[in-house]
Amino acid sequence: MTTSPESEHPIKAYGYAARDTSGSLSPLTFSRRDTGEKDVRFKVLFCGICHTDLHFVKDEFGITKYPITPGHEIVGVVTEVGCKVEKFKVGDKVGVGCLVGSCRSCQSCATDHEQHCPKTVGTYGTPDFDGTQTHGGFSDHMVTDEHFVLRWPENLPLDSGAPLLCAGITTYSPLRYFGLDKPGTKVGVVGLGGLGHAAVKFAKAFGAEVTVFSTSPAKEQEALEGLKADHFINSKDEHQMQAAYGTLNGIIDTVSANHPTAPLLSALAPFGKLVLLGAPPKPLEVATISLIIGNKTVAGSGAGGIKETQEMLDFAAEHGITADVEVIPIDYVNTAMERLIKSDVKYRFVIDVANSLKAE
Ligand SMILES: [Zn+2]
Ligand SMILES: [Zn+2]
Repeated sequence: MTTSPESEHPIKAYGYAARDTSGSLSPLTFSRRDTGEKDVRFKVLFCGICHTDLHFVKDEFGITKYPITPGHEIVGVVTEVGCKVEKFKVGDKVGVGCLVGSCRSCQSCATDHEQHCPKTVGTYGTPDFDGTQTHGGFSDHMVTDEHFVLRWPENLPLDSGAPLLCAGITTYSPLRYFGLDKPGTKVGVVGLGGLGHAAVKFAKAFGAEVTVFSTSPAKEQEALEGLKADHFINSKDEHQMQAAYGTLNGIIDTVSANHPTAPLLSALAPFGKLVLLGAPPKPLEVATISLIIGNKTVAGSGAGGIKETQEMLDFAAEHGITADVEVIPIDYVNTAMERLIKSDVKYRFVIDVANSLKAE
């Protein structure tokens, strides 16, 4: 194709995009569709940087189409609404997470689990219903069907709240679904990064007793003092791991590097659940007997539906939950990506888009 369908869109947009597998981001002018009757157009204020952005800009999943404008932890202010928009008006603060479209009629959509719809449209780098590629929140504005736009709670900070749209819902959803949201429940959290620190905060807010597992003893102080976890276990220390034997009702495992699951299954109490949020490159090895003894479950969980994302934002606002963030200008984004590879951030970068992205 010589002309991109995007060139047919009437409205100019501007953002930062990667053009090849180097993943290096640089300014890009593209276009967005006109405001449809159910669309909300909004100016992007803040956008978090998620590990998935890094995978996509470097084409680590093998599905990236360049140029790609990442960003799916987007907070903004509404500038225009379509004639049939019911939930939003100009001036409202809003959020958009990982999804901007789905079929709206399948079983998953009908039960508010749009994230599992076979026709889901990702916020960036996926074909939209009109055949054009979606562009994410590392850009000046977005236009999104109101069904996929979240109402931003009044007292939830815009910058440190942004990462809740991916890291927040990805940890809140499994805590709720697997019944780890009850006071007194004993919950383990493996890995203390963007997802892990959000999991600790939500589990504590549910009244759970939280144990953080990390291979880095340096994280003990952060876990106990910074995040108010109840216990810390150095997962390389066999004595500490043995002390946790059979104690936990559930474990939220956020680690995406290969790591042994047998010690984690041993730490589960009968009927305990090991929930995996990270996707290590190698298949999981599990001794079936370690599941049979104690009726244990190994499960996975990814993001959440729109209704539950709204519920999570409202819960976060009510309980004062935000991400710990380092706010950066957009021209720092390549350095931020380098630091993210080294886990050199506590715990999320958030781009101050409105104040740093200027059209050339
Ligand atoms: Zn994400
Ligand atoms: Zn559907």
